[in-house]
Amino acid sequence: MQTKSEVEFLKDAVCVRCARNKATQLVRVANGSRDAVCDRCHARPAAVPAIVRQIVGRCHVGQSDRAVIRYFVSRLKHGYATWRALPVTERKTWMRHIIRAHAENRGLYFYVMGGSR
Ligand SMILES: [Zn+2]
Repeated sequence: MQTKSEVEFLKDAVCVRCARNKATQLVRVANGSRDAVCDRCHARPAAVPAIVRQIVGRCHVGQSDRAVIRYFVSRLKHGYATWRALPVTERKTWMRHIIRAHAENRGLYFYVMGGSR
């Protein structure tokens, strides 16, 4: 169910993720603001930001998700204080990206090291 202002917002909005298709969905982002995305982008989660790949890439694939998140937080300017100041929704988004990047690295590691052929 969309409110009147949401319908207005979508009227000639373009998807913020692909900047190509007409937006059909509203997604809530940090601090209560919203973004408009198309159906295709809505179905797929946002790509992992390069900075997350960079930092997570320095962690060994055998480390736990928790340890990798802790390392990521320690790499932020002002570390945990910065992390704590973020809204919960944003922290969750970062954690999702971190866990995904770590899982991808793990998958690649076992693919490369795997003995099955
Ligand atoms: Zn899109």
